[in-house]
Amino acid sequence: MNQPELTAAANVDAGEQQQFASMASRWWDQQGEFKALHDINPARLAYVAARCELAEKATLDIGCGGGILAESMAAAGAEVTGIDITREVLEVAKLHLLESGRQVDYRLITAEQLAEQQPGCFAQITCMEMLEHVPDPASIVNACAELLKPGGQVFFSTLNRSPLAFGLGIVAAEYVLNLVPRGTHRYDRFIRPSELAGWCRHAGLTVKDISALHYNPLTRKASVGGTPRVNYLLHAGL
Ligand code: SAH
Repeated sequence: MNQPELTAAANVDAGEQQQFASMASRWWDQQGEFKALHDINPARLAYVAARCELAEKATLDIGCGGGILAESMAAAGAEVTGIDITREVLEVAKLHLLESGRQVDYRLITAEQLAEQQPGCFAQITCMEMLEHVPDPASIVNACAELLKPGGQVFFSTLNRSPLAFGLGIVAAEYVLNLVPRGTHRYDRFIRPSELAGWCRHAGLTVKDISALHYNPLTRKASVGGTPRVNYLLHAGL
């Protein structure tokens, strides 16, 4: 069941939402469609944890999905709110808390709607592997700036719009290795680091770092650092 009010919201792609809903039950399967998210999580969590104080801080995960990153930040002591626009994935996220014993406040709401309800409430925000699935990613970046407390930090990850990202992120991942289902990513939705940095500056955020997020699907190892050719992380502060 979709939320008509969310599907109709300007910044939601109903097709993408359907696709995530159809895969929701397999979110925590380490060998399933989301195995890459499981594999990259320790590296991205370490990046975030090294750049902000997670313990006891109000932390928002936008586009949290089944909660892989949200739960890991909660385990590190953060007070995590996870938001997503796909009801089915949030149901899986909530069910998984029963298994893990962790605490995350999951809510079905868009970032823009939450920014109206709770402006200036979060010490840090994560928004990972999500911007490339929305029609207007700059609007999400603006919402992040509104949601942050003064001095707050925000962490994005997404895919660069580069020929190499087309080769690795779509051709190899979707057609050769079958790492993720075909149609998971659209090249025209990939975002150049310069574009994301520009949206941040426009929203009043200061870009502090942009680093590549390397992932080897054969060894299933991930690491952070170097030139952002394919997947990358961006850290900005208010
Ligand atoms: N951030 C998670 C999940 C990434 S998958 C992780 O990296 O582990 C992308 C998620 O973004 C899906 O759960 C999808 O439902 C969600 N999503 C897509 N459009 C969204 C929007 N406009 N607002 C919030 N979440 C959105």
